[in-house]
Amino acid sequence: MRRELEVVVVGCGTAGTVTALLLAAQGHRVRLLERAGEPDDVGAGILLQHLGQEVLDLLGLGDALRALSRPVTRVDAVTVRGRQVMDFAYADVPGSVPALGVHRGALFRLLYDAVLASAVEVGTGVEVVDVRPAGDRLGVWVAGADGPVRWGEADLVVGADGTRSAVRRALGVTVRDHPYAYGALWAVVPDPDEVAADALYQCFRDTRHYLGVLPTGRGESSIFWSIRTDEMEATMRRGVPAWRDEARPFAGRYAPLLERVDHLLAATYRDVVVSHPHRVAPGGRAAVALVGDSWHAMSPQLGAGASLALADAWTLAGCLAEASDLRTGLTAYEQQRRAHVRWYTWWTRLMTPLFQSGLVPLSWPRDLLAGPVAQVPAVRRQFVSTLMGHRTSPWSTWELPAERPGRPGGRSEG
Ligand SMILES: Cc1cc2nc3c(=O)[nH]c(=O)nc-3n(C[C@H](O)[C@H](O)[C@H](O)COP(=O)(O)OP(=O)(O)OC[C@H]3O[C@@H](n4cnc5c(N)ncnc54)[C@H](O)[C@@H]3O)c2cc1C
Repeated sequence: MRRELEVVVVGCGTAGTVTALLLAAQGHRVRLLERAGEPDDVGAGILLQHLGQEVLDLLGLGDALRALSRPVTRVDAVTVRGRQVMDFAYADVPGSVPALGVHRGALFRLLYDAVLASAVEVGTGVEVVDVRPAGDRLGVWVAGADGPVRWGEADLVVGADGTRSAVRRALGVTVRDHPYAYGALWAVVPDPDEVAADALYQCFRDTRHYLGVLPTGRGESSIFWSIRTDEMEATMRRGVPAWRDEARPFAGRYAPLLERVDHLLAATYRDVVVSHPHRVAPGGRAAVALVGDSWHAMSPQLGAGASLALADAWTLAGCLAEASDLRTGLTAYEQQRRAHVRWYTWWTRLMTPLFQSGLVPLSWPRDLLAGPVAQVPAVRRQFVSTLMGHRTSPWSTWELPAERPGRPGGRSEG
């Protein structure tokens, strides 16, 4: 990009922090706007797959990430009656790299501290509600006490504002925005003896309930309880002891962790598809782009959302660094990311009803066939490389551009 851009990144999550860091390092003036008054550490454990780890490595944050995380080397899935549904290790496929179980808050803190140490200007307690053309630039509108207020202007607005993105809405590119009927209640509990060891554990009763246990950094683990979204409130009202009685038969050797749950939080998911993750304003001097969940929110069935968000941020910065103008850069961004995003959107959509839906008969072939099918070496390879975050089709993979997105000069790296 030959000219220095004024960039507004909306949303201080995984995608927004990394996009802001990379664009500021290229010499653009970057302002990062976050709705929350004080960006904080809430969030359950997540699996950060190899793809996401690669981005953190390229940012120079890989060692710090590993110090905060626990390797998750196995997936151990059983039914509540004790039938093994899946038991595989990443190491079964030569050359594979295990996931890391990390507290979302710890990952956030790592990225946010890097932002605070950079040239990025952070504005908190600012809720963006609209983005509109303003001459040959874009006007950014935020929520005020008496309705929307014009906040300022930008050449590039990056929507990193998550599943219910206001920037996506302003862009008018949504072709699907479907809420899932099932979500999760979750808690992070102390696990000083690391009972959860190095496995993602899942225990199912047909497709309607499952308990998940995920190692979440040092001395902590996350518990997930799959539940219909319209039953969440009643379950939370009945209280943790009543929920624990319901969940105990699913817990097996992880039962001690259930006893440490003191409160539950609710998470819901959406399935979002857009026609294009960017739009260039008339005249070509201003544009909007989407990264992370604002482009492709999905259920967490493949544990890929954060890795995809990091890959978006890295690719967007790389494409803008190499392009002579916004249109060329954003077209390249869409081209480089589209097949990869589509693969994960489709697989997640296909798999979610097998694990979280009212379609109970789907659990019968799942429980009978998943184990034997996963023994077939070719299937296992496909599955592990999909989990690692690298597939775009059965025949092709997506590799991260290994060069750090260039710096055209101008402003110095913070
Ligand atoms: C229960 C659960 C489990 C998950 N498990 C995994 C997993 O194991 N592995 C994995 O990779 N992914 C997982 N995910 C998905 C993962 O968390 C997301 O894909 C990832 O966080 C996307 O990052 P993001 O930056 O796009 O959005 P977010 O992290 O949601 O960040 C969006 C930010 O924008 C802010 N914001 C929103 N609207 C506005 C506005 N209008 N103005 C200003 N700011 C705004 C929000 O406050 C937030 O800070 C899970 C998700 C859930 C719900």
